[in-house]
Amino acid sequence: MRVSVIGGGYVGVVTAACFAHLGHGVSIVEVDAGKVRTINAGEPPIYEEGLEGLLKVHAGKKLVAGTEYGPVADSDLSFICVGTPPAWDGSADLSYITAACRSIGEVLRGGKKAHTVVVKSTVPPGTTENLVIPTVREASGRNDLGFAMNPEFLREGRAVKDFLHPDRIVIGSTDPAAGERVSKVYQGLDAPIMRTGTTAAEMIKYASNALLAMKISYTNEIGNLCKRLGIDVYEVMQGVGLDRRVSPHFLNAGAGFGGSCFPKDVAALIHLAERHGEDPVLLRSVMEVNRRQPLRMIRILKDRVGDLNSKKIAVLGLAFKDGTDDIRESRAVPVIEALLESGAAVAAYDPLAVPNMRQVFPQIEYCTGAAEALAGADACLLMTEWPEFSRLDGEFELMKNRVVIEGRRVLSCDGKEGICW
Ligand code: NAD
Repeated sequence: MRVSVIGGGYVGVVTAACFAHLGHGVSIVEVDAGKVRTINAGEPPIYEEGLEGLLKVHAGKKLVAGTEYGPVADSDLSFICVGTPPAWDGSADLSYITAACRSIGEVLRGGKKAHTVVVKSTVPPGTTENLVIPTVREASGRNDLGFAMNPEFLREGRAVKDFLHPDRIVIGSTDPAAGERVSKVYQGLDAPIMRTGTTAAEMIKYASNALLAMKISYTNEIGNLCKRLGIDVYEVMQGVGLDRRVSPHFLNAGAGFGGSCFPKDVAALIHLAERHGEDPVLLRSVMEVNRRQPLRMIRILKDRVGDLNSKKIAVLGLAFKDGTDDIRESRAVPVIEALLESGAAVAAYDPLAVPNMRQVFPQIEYCTGAAEALAGADACLLMTEWPEFSRLDGEFELMKNRVVIEGRRVLSCDGKEGICW
């Protein structure tokens, strides 16, 4: 099949590379010319394990990127993968979706080829029906187009693997033929396909992310209490997670969740609930626990070293989790903000995310390794679960004071203190 992918960000480039891997001819339409050049050169614009290998094989052959929408007209399907960032009030900003729909519609105008427009971006229930379909229909002047909603569940850091080995594929459509065309694109993957309406598909994505975020905030609240009682929360949640009704995943206590999805999707769900007259007490608590959690690192730090003014604090890990260079909503951000407010000198290290964090905090020191960040430090805060941190040991001897506080449970050395263990 011929597939167009609109937006070459995290989801778009992974989707495109994996569709090419499944044998389809894929065109990425991306407004950022820099990203287009990078993709066509076979280099991923983001770090994702396995992505570079796929791009090296398919870029310039089965997969071509460009800034123009022209290739959409020759495609059987177009997958909209543009961003849906939070607006000022927490609602999802759908302006990129609207722009993409107009451009798709304009290029399909006057055409005869059958085409299905698929929304893969995370959008509030009703968006496909009330925004995407009318916008594309108006811009194209056509009533013969198919529409579907196919939410993406990949996790950054494991995106290629998740895309090629999904737990499930959800396809929402208003007419069965459009849904059938979408399911054909995934032929070759071994996963159950759930067919539903577009609004249910949209809600499945929000409800899934909110539940996972809730598991994390719940675990952190239990962890905070466990620490006071001298109980190991990891042992507790291992016992909890052995229950098949719960599952062992997303039960790791720590500094809270970040990334481009959980915070914005829970905020959008809260906004949606309020707009419809509901009081989403539970969802608001999920966010509040997550807002407070990283600041516990600062409270522990101050208890241990006192006034932070002019103290050198090493921050290990800047990405919102390991395996990615993404710093969106990383828990390291509020921690660094609080350190700077207290007058501390921050020396930071991350294996991948330094260039991204430099744009947010140009004023802090960035190091090329953990040892450099730790040398002469008054304390260390560990913010990301990079496997390489688990091997640190002698490096902590380089510190002025050996005060090591973990926001993620990865260290194997002696003398560390956990945020809630
Ligand atoms: P992103 O910001 O990394 O990428 C979006 C891309 O779309 C950017 O490269 C941008 O330049 C491009 N773009 C914007 N407007 C465009 C237009 N009119 N035409 C063509 N390109 C355009 O975003 P992302 O992280 O890939 O997320 C995309 C969507 O997928 C969001 O709705 C997100 O919630 C959802 N999602 C993300 C993840 C994730 O882990 N990142 C997982 C599942 C779902």
